[in-house]
Amino acid sequence: MSNKVDPNFIRELKHFGLKDANKCYNCGTCTAVCNLATAETPFPRKLVRYVQLGQKDKIKNSPEPWLCYYCGDCSTRCPRGADPGETMMALRRYLTSLYDWTGFARKFYTSEKFEILAVSAVGAFVGLGMIIWGFFAPNPNWKYPALNSIWPAQQVEIADLVMAAILSFLLLSNLYRCVRTVLGDYWSKIPLRLYKDEIKFLLTNFLTQKELGKCTDRKQWLVHLSIMTGYSTIFLMVVLFIAGPVPMLIHADWWHFQRDYIPGHEYSLLHPIRLLGYYATFAIMYGTTYAIIGRLRKSKAPYKNTHPTDWTFLILLQLTTMTGIFVHFAALLGWVLATYAIYVIHMMVAIPMLVLEVPFAKWAHLAYRPVVLFLMKVKSRYAAEYESAGQPVLEAKPAV
Ligand code: SF4
Ligand code: SF4
Repeated sequence: MSNKVDPNFIRELKHFGLKDANKCYNCGTCTAVCNLATAETPFPRKLVRYVQLGQKDKIKNSPEPWLCYYCGDCSTRCPRGADPGETMMALRRYLTSLYDWTGFARKFYTSEKFEILAVSAVGAFVGLGMIIWGFFAPNPNWKYPALNSIWPAQQVEIADLVMAAILSFLLLSNLYRCVRTVLGDYWSKIPLRLYKDEIKFLLTNFLTQKELGKCTDRKQWLVHLSIMTGYSTIFLMVVLFIAGPVPMLIHADWWHFQRDYIPGHEYSLLHPIRLLGYYATFAIMYGTTYAIIGRLRKSKAPYKNTHPTDWTFLILLQLTTMTGIFVHFAALLGWVLATYAIYVIHMMVAIPMLVLEVPFAKWAHLAYRPVVLFLMKVKSRYAAEYESAGQPVLEAKPAV
């Protein structure tokens, strides 16, 4: 691995939200208090040091930024106020921009103007498209709220599936670059069997985020889990349940997520679609409200410094959920025009959030983190089974 030093690196990282790394005097308290650091992957001190020294190449190949959940334990205990947790967060943003081959993530993270412009442009495009689509609807229903009479669920579903395919391609191609970078030479050495054996570990960590539960502040775990599960639930419902493929596969008309509110034919309160929708709404509202208030009050270490993209994520997510609630209740109350108008606004917020956050920003972290955790697990099994049997070790274990 190249060990080139880049004196401008620290300046570059400031665009990604780096604040106080230069205050660090290398005492190691942060690594000692971090419940997620191990002998094989010690952090955050080592990474703060790399930042101070401009060791860009070492950071590029480090898995550690993805093993940190930003609980804030290290920042609270740092005697110099160097906020090592925020340094790890800035490194995650930086790495996300490195993995992204389109260059979009970098622009998104480093230019507030570009970020606002991108969100506004996608939102305006979606709003205009929805209005034109609605204008040409052959039989709009004005008697009761019938979204399908203007934006038929089957057509919305096709648009959703196209969007999901593009987002998946972007996210997976960036994820591939992440995997190659983190594994380095191990990429061609580790047998497939080890990956297969650890799939359960990957899924468990993605679904439960249980590593965060090892940190002192378990409330952060709850908040994180709420946002992640709420977001994932609604994403899956939009992609799979608007009109299909799930309702089509099981031939069940009553599993449609986008349904007309025909008086007397609404889903019952205990219908699974309704329960899932309510769960996602509650989970996202709880998590985002907690995080927004925390950031406004700067109530604890992870909320002291807020990058513009953190606000964009929280605000878009909360606006999407609130407009979704308004659509639901306007429809239940039989307010036809209000339902249609708020639905357009809802899409103008929801689509930019999905299109921009999933492959390029905060949501991408949800994919990178468990995958890197999984790769470290596979790598340590490889080391135990093969390298300890006499094969050469590729990298010496770094000291804390
Ligand atoms: S606790 Fe603070 S000063 Fe000590 S190594 Fe960590 S970041 Fe540096
Ligand atoms: S923020 Fe928490 S998980 Fe991240 S390095 Fe600090 S103590 Fe460890």
